[in-house]
Amino acid sequence: MKTIGLIGGMSWESSAEYYRIINEETAKALGGTHSARSLMLSVDFGEIEAAQHRGDWDALEAEMVAAARALAAGGVDFIVLCTNTMHRFAEAMERAAGIPLLHIADPTAEAIRAAGLSRVGLLGTAFTMEQDFYKGRLGSRHGLDVLVPEAEDRALVHRVIYEELVLGTVREASRADYAAVIGRLVDRGAEAVILGCTEIMLLVRPEDSAVPLYDTTTLHAKAAVGRALA
Ligand code: GLU
Repeated sequence: MKTIGLIGGMSWESSAEYYRIINEETAKALGGTHSARSLMLSVDFGEIEAAQHRGDWDALEAEMVAAARALAAGGVDFIVLCTNTMHRFAEAMERAAGIPLLHIADPTAEAIRAAGLSRVGLLGTAFTMEQDFYKGRLGSRHGLDVLVPEAEDRALVHRVIYEELVLGTVREASRADYAAVIGRLVDRGAEAVILGCTEIMLLVRPEDSAVPLYDTTTLHAKAAVGRALA
C-alpha cells in the first residue's frame, strides 16, 4: 500500500471527512482491520483564510509549497490537497515536492464524463468560481462546459462557506439558499453540479438538487485510496 500525504486544515471540518472516507474505503477494499497509510500536515486555517481575503497569494503559495515539500520529505508517495481553492498552486506544489499531486478536479471530471454529462454548474469559494485555475482545468483538460452562479449567488455561496461551514455550522436556511442557487444553475442548463468546496457536502444533500451532485471531497478521497492500493 502506498502512503497518502494529506494537506489538511482547510478547513479541519472537511479534513476529518477525508480521513474518515479514506479509512472506510481502505477497509472496504482490503477487509478486516485494514486502514490507510497516511501522513497529514494540517495548517492553521485562520491564517490561510486571512491571507486569501487580503489577496496575499504569494504567501499562500509559499505555505502550500512548503507543506508539499514537508510531506515528500516525510516519505509519502503522493499528495492529496484537501481543499479545492488551494489547487491554484497544484502545479507549483507538485514541481517543488517532486512527487505526484492527485488533482481534485480530475476524479471529479472523470466521474462526470463517465456519466455522459458535460454541462456542469460549479459551487465553491469565490476564488474557485471566479479564477481560472479550476474552471480552466475542467474545460481544457476534461472538455466540460462550466457554469458558475450569478454574482449575488456567488457571494451567498462564498459567505456560507466562510461564516458557517468551515466552523462546522449547518443551517437549514443556508441549505434552502443553496438549493435555490442549484435550481437557478439547472434552469440555465446545468446537467450536474460540482460541490467544488470540500465543506459543501456537510450541507447539501442529493435531495436538495434536481440533477446529480458531484462531491469533490468524496470523489477525491476515493481516488486517493484507488491510487494507494493500485
Ligand atoms: N475547503 C474549501 C475548498 O474546498 C474552502 C477553504 C479554503 O479556502 O481552502 O475550497
